[in-house]
Amino acid sequence: MAEAALKEKPAEAAEERELTDGFHLIIDALKLNGLTTIYGVPGIPITDFGRMAQASGIRVLSFRHEQNAGYAASIAGFLTKKPGICLTVSAPGFLNGLTALAHATTNCFPMILISGSSEREIVDLQQGDYEEMDQLAIAKPLCKAAYRILHAADIGIGIARAIRAAVSGRPGGVYLDLPAKLFGQVMDAEAGRKSLVKVIDPAPAQIPSQESVKRALDVLKGAKRPLIILGKGAAYAQADDAIRAFVEKSGAPFLPMSMAKGLLPDTHPQCAGAARSTVLAQSDVVMLIGARLNWLLSHGKGKAWGTERKKFIQIDIEPKEMDSNVEIVAPVVGDIGSCVAALLKAAAPLKAGDEDPFPLKVADWIKTVTSKRDENVAKMAPRLMNNNVPMDYHGALGVLKNIVKERPDAILVNEGANTLDLARGIIDVYQPRKRIDVGTWGIMGIGMGYAIAAAIETGKPVLAVEGDSAFGFSGMEVETICRYKLPVCVVIFNNDGIYRGTDVNTVSDDPAPTVFVKGSRYDKMMEAFGGVGVNATSPDELKRAVNAAMDSGLPTLINAVIDPAAGSESGRIGNLNPQSALKKKK
Ligand code: ADP
Ligand code: MG
Repeated sequence: MAEAALKEKPAEAAEERELTDGFHLIIDALKLNGLTTIYGVPGIPITDFGRMAQASGIRVLSFRHEQNAGYAASIAGFLTKKPGICLTVSAPGFLNGLTALAHATTNCFPMILISGSSEREIVDLQQGDYEEMDQLAIAKPLCKAAYRILHAADIGIGIARAIRAAVSGRPGGVYLDLPAKLFGQVMDAEAGRKSLVKVIDPAPAQIPSQESVKRALDVLKGAKRPLIILGKGAAYAQADDAIRAFVEKSGAPFLPMSMAKGLLPDTHPQCAGAARSTVLAQSDVVMLIGARLNWLLSHGKGKAWGTERKKFIQIDIEPKEMDSNVEIVAPVVGDIGSCVAALLKAAAPLKAGDEDPFPLKVADWIKTVTSKRDENVAKMAPRLMNNNVPMDYHGALGVLKNIVKERPDAILVNEGANTLDLARGIIDVYQPRKRIDVGTWGIMGIGMGYAIAAAIETGKPVLAVEGDSAFGFSGMEVETICRYKLPVCVVIFNNDGIYRGTDVNTVSDDPAPTVFVKGSRYDKMMEAFGGVGVNATSPDELKRAVNAAMDSGLPTLINAVIDPAAGSESGRIGNLNPQSALKKKK
């Protein structure tokens, strides 16, 4: 296409001037902004773009389905604070990527979905072009911002806008529409170079007002039973030292949301993870740091939160988040790094003799929380050491808990129903951003995309703990894991079905809707692509296989055979299932 466009130019002009085109300008714009990894699926009209990007030194990871590439890009954004890039073809490829873009937006992860698109003139007149679709219009309601670039000269600005929109303020997903014609458009190379934009300070610090900081401290100082809740926004912010210093100085118990686990170790003396119900119900002042009062926290009200009205302090970059579910008596709007630094500064005594509010004088409360926590941990301990065959969740997770303890820098990916809910509570995390999971939507299908991106972005070994159903959504990507030789160990908790493998259809020969083929051997899928497959039927076998995989770094899939009767319906969120009114009458 570039050549064709060249021929249209007057011959002398082509000789005199150095030229560039859309392909190269997009690549140069991405590289100029440090975006050097692309997750995607090749095809018309972006196949050549992928080749050229790879030739230019960009790492291009080709997936088997766009949704998985999209999830990879979204979590790359979370792990790096730079927008993860997902590249897809038009219409169907774009739609496949869109789920991940919406997921990124919902979870506040910075990501840019770049999709090739068909000819504007034909699409807009709906004349039936190849993969015809008005992608920009469709993407808009599902992301933070959506842009289309029509002219090569606008590529620099277009990509700069996409980057800023993705990472500034509350991070989120951005859609960038690149019509096929753009790639081959030719322009003067010098003018092209000048048109590129290096985004300066893409996510500027947002400093909280002094007043809001003082108000928050005053409320916290008045607490008798304080609680700090850390959310994945706090993990994203990479203000790890300041957050830890603040929590430790305050002396308050803290509760990590699932992806904030490890900001302080789950084994930290102030961690209230194992006393969750107690601290939610009994606390009087709750400080939220990068966590939303959505369904995952019962909207900040109702039975889980006890009878007494609480005072909420909330630190968030998004002003609209305040009062979204309950009254926030002390909103602190700003980026978490700046907010926590300001709180630490404001709390420090200025001169000798000034009163230091920290640690808060809450010894009795700490005693209550600690004894509840220790009691729960002790109750669980023997179950985690059981050697049952077939394995139950606790026996298998007890093994994985110890392995993660010995390998605290490995990244844990986790999805499923029972596999998710139980692993979240059982497996302790020791370092920030080492646990990535289903996120705000409780979505199934993130597994292999997350595992691949985690390995690529961090260079650390990855342990993906997957329900058999959850794994099915992205299972074909084990080929991708083998192709790029990634240090990923996938453990499938295979209980023959969704929630349980025991449902029976009483009216026909069809299997019940929630069961899979009994005795499936997922490990053979990995072997098909040259990876290591292991069938583990006991905790000991599981332990040996996972340790071998983590030591070797070889792509490994372990089929962990779990008792089909072991799980419970919908894991821990069975209460969200609607109940049939007729059932009651029967
Ligand atoms: P969790 O599910 O762990 O509770 P949420 O995704 O509900 O976490 O909440 C994350 C919150 O963090 C969002 O409200 C988002 O606006 C906020 N956030 C994300 N990044 C930052 C940041 N750098 N500074 C402040 N707040 C942030
Ligand atoms: Mg299952």
